[in-house]
Amino acid sequence: MNEYDSAKIIDLLTASCDFTETEDVTQADLVVLNTCSVRTKASEKMFSDLGRLRLLKKKNPKLILAVGGCVSMQEKKNIFCRAPYVNIVFGPQTLHRLPELYKRALNNEKHIIDTTSCQIEKFDYFPAPSKTGPIAYVSIMEGCNKFCSYCIVPFTRGIEKSRNISDILTEIKTLVAKEAKEIHLLGQNVNAYRDPNNNATLANLIQETAKIPTIERIRFTTSHPAEFGDDLIAIFKDVKKLANHIHLPIQSGSNRILKLMRRGYTREEYQKIIEKLREVRPDINISTDFIVGFPNETEEDFAETIEIIKQINFDTSYSFIYSPRPNTPAEKMADNVTLTEKKERLAILQNQLAAQARKYSKNMIGTTQKVLVTDHAKKDSKQFSGRTENNRVVNFTAKQDVLGKMVEVKITEALPNSLRGEF
Ligand code: SAH
Ligand code: SF4
Repeated sequence: MNEYDSAKIIDLLTASCDFTETEDVTQADLVVLNTCSVRTKASEKMFSDLGRLRLLKKKNPKLILAVGGCVSMQEKKNIFCRAPYVNIVFGPQTLHRLPELYKRALNNEKHIIDTTSCQIEKFDYFPAPSKTGPIAYVSIMEGCNKFCSYCIVPFTRGIEKSRNISDILTEIKTLVAKEAKEIHLLGQNVNAYRDPNNNATLANLIQETAKIPTIERIRFTTSHPAEFGDDLIAIFKDVKKLANHIHLPIQSGSNRILKLMRRGYTREEYQKIIEKLREVRPDINISTDFIVGFPNETEEDFAETIEIIKQINFDTSYSFIYSPRPNTPAEKMADNVTLTEKKERLAILQNQLAAQARKYSKNMIGTTQKVLVTDHAKKDSKQFSGRTENNRVVNFTAKQDVLGKMVEVKITEALPNSLRGEF
């Protein structure tokens, strides 16, 4: 979501203020920090980045500093207290006003803040995307109503609000005209997507997207297991363009912890969804998110998480140590798990996941995979680089230019973070 917002900020500033992007921050007239506050580390990182930018601002007093995203929503005016040299604070819902806020800052207005909640208004202001690779991201909804006990997102991004299906499809068609072949439908809880006018669902949106002829692959993220209906299972059966991969965050394998997290499903319900998905797509690849060391997580709770990792046979996944977030119910829970124990558990969990991911990669050797070519390989510009259905990077050589194309690549080698192949 943040990457999507950052791309939109670039589009807006290029279209309205005639900015160009620079890799060299010392050349910048405006620096925008787009922030995430899901875990403590992210907000602390923002303040340390600001500390570095302060030195730059000392050398160049005309430099305008803007801070956006979820930390802005959480900290609001506090940002000016901790970092008084910041000019603008804006939120995830007001990023479309950045060009106007920037002009006010140029007119010497001090400490400009706009963190109002106007949710999907911003979509009406986004210019056509300035650049699109073969993979394009489209936000279909904003916010989240789930209020998981540990999570700050509903407080920083607001409650769920879906965009009109017609607006989303128009945006997708614009991206397709700019050569996008793979579309990622984005939102905090995309399963809850409902068109405000006709109640169309995520399943309907996927069907409509798949009808666009030049689209070759569709993905959606993030899905919530409590709202994974049979209509979505059916979509995996019917829509061949839907990638053979799903990211479905489980967070924990313990029912006791899932209840404390207020996730709204049990491990058995989660397993049932996977079972149904595997009935229609036997080799579907499944990734997930885990929170390790939730308050008072016992050894037994953790053992149940490890057990479900093996049972489901998750592929590459994200895992985090629980991070208390301000004003969430979990923040007030007593916690008898030490940080050392949490770190140990995270290492055990990540080792297990890495071993499973290695096995998946190894099993791909000798197979032919559909690869969407996104770039030249980082280490060798004569090689191409692309993504498989299960989202692995493949580097390979090809005699003709295949950039932007979906091609069939034979996998020859599995490296820790990528695959090698032959075209
Ligand atoms: N809406 C998605 C994910 C949003 S946040 C979902 O429900 O799954 C992305 C991930 O960050 C979460 O899946 C969770 O694993 C992690 N996360 C969120 N809050 C956290 C916290 N307080 N501490 C540690 N990890 C957290
Ligand atoms: Fe946060 Fe839960 Fe909403 Fe995901 S579903 S964004 S974890 S509140």
